[in-house]
Amino acid sequence: MVDIPCTDKELFLLKKIASAAEELSVEAYLIGGFVRDKIIGRPTKDADIVCMGDGIALAYKVAERFNPKPTVAFFKTFGTAQIKIKDFEIEFVGARKESYNYNSRKPEVMPGSLEDDQNRRDFTINALAISLNKENFGKLIDPFGGLLHIEQQNIQTPLDPLQTFSDDPLRMMRAIRFATQLGFTIHAETFQAIIDNARRIKIVSQERITDELNKIMLAPKPSIGLDLLSKSGLLNIIFPQMMTLHGAENVEGLGHKDNFYHTLQVIDNICETTDDLWLRWAALLHDIGKPATKRFEPGHGFTFHGHEVVGARMVPKIFTQLKLPLNEKMRFVQKLVELHLRPISLTKENITDSAIRRLLFDAGEDIEALMLLCNADITSKNKAKVKRYLQNFEMVRLRLQEVEASDHIRNWQPPVSGELIMQTFGLNPSREVGIIKDAIRNGILDGLIANTYEAAFNFMLEKGAELGLKPINAS
Ligand code: ATP
Repeated sequence: MVDIPCTDKELFLLKKIASAAEELSVEAYLIGGFVRDKIIGRPTKDADIVCMGDGIALAYKVAERFNPKPTVAFFKTFGTAQIKIKDFEIEFVGARKESYNYNSRKPEVMPGSLEDDQNRRDFTINALAISLNKENFGKLIDPFGGLLHIEQQNIQTPLDPLQTFSDDPLRMMRAIRFATQLGFTIHAETFQAIIDNARRIKIVSQERITDELNKIMLAPKPSIGLDLLSKSGLLNIIFPQMMTLHGAENVEGLGHKDNFYHTLQVIDNICETTDDLWLRWAALLHDIGKPATKRFEPGHGFTFHGHEVVGARMVPKIFTQLKLPLNEKMRFVQKLVELHLRPISLTKENITDSAIRRLLFDAGEDIEALMLLCNADITSKNKAKVKRYLQNFEMVRLRLQEVEASDHIRNWQPPVSGELIMQTFGLNPSREVGIIKDAIRNGILDGLIANTYEAAFNFMLEKGAELGLKPINAS
């Protein structure tokens, strides 16, 4: 390969594709993300091949050259086919020309030349092709200066950006996603066209928008994309609650920080410690209840009392609106938003074991994630302050470990079940059973009784007696 650094295995695959194409007498080219990522030096695990003919037929011809023969998955309506060799996916498609209708992002598609196919690509860096043909195998075909734009770390559309984004508004999200993943800058004219077309994002399905948003969230520095989404006007349309975090206010010399940029900093901080998408979402949403709870108390300043509870209540609505999953992932985010201030309250002096047990109980398995969120939430520019806060959290961590080691609260299961309470007092499911269960749990968390079957059983008898209940087989 003359122009891009391929591994021997990749070169072997590409030569097989080249010989299959030659046998069918069709021109074939590597195109798009694979070429871009190879030039940049990013890892690749799939490649797109465009041919001047039938992509499905080429896929079958390529498959024949391997033993065992890979399955060809094809989509007749789109004229595309895929094969997988080990963990490497190759997609084949015939070169095409597209024409768009204003009300839909689904184009009318017809066969075209390589040039037509490159013209329909979203960005110059995604329009690079490499010949797999005998006469010029390995030659880079770069009609729009994509190579230069990779060097300049610049994202721009091959043709008029206004038309490109109007045709398929998803490309606006993709531009911002690539800028975030690659750390590239969006060319001024291209960015202006995103601003001018932002409202057209409404014709794109929520699933596709959220897919791009999640890719931004999974990038090393999601703040790049979130800031661009905000500045382009897209965020205001796809996730307006986030925009309400904007603005620092100052009254009578008392101010509060800009919660939007604080949130962005928290996300970047947490990305240094986790790849978990949902922990990243928890960072994004941790202060989302602040605008709704903001008050100014004269002489004291701005307060956001209860923002963690209000924020946690907003999570299901936001997940529904963004078509994020309404399952345990959402509950995890909700829990972290609700608990994100609790470890701070444990940094004060004279914290009882009981308060520590309650946090272990409430956070359960997610205590580590919560502590990571709290560390990430420290965004002060004062280094001494940051150091002090981090040390305080380290102390909380140690206390959590000590209390957990002695009391095993993290995966707590009631030592006496509701079933046993009913059997003991001859009760049907009723309010009394709940009262006794709660009393046992609180007794353990408050350290009144040990976290053992025996202690809990005796405590149950005591609480039952207080309610006027007698064990049924006591004489
Ligand atoms: P990644 O795999 O990181 O998403 P990619 O560039 O391979 O990056 P794909 O979505 O797989 O992205 O698309 C493959 C290629 O198809 C792109 O490089 C681009 O040339 C083209 N493409 C994809 N989506 C669009 C679009 N909406 N408009 C125009 N071209 C597109």
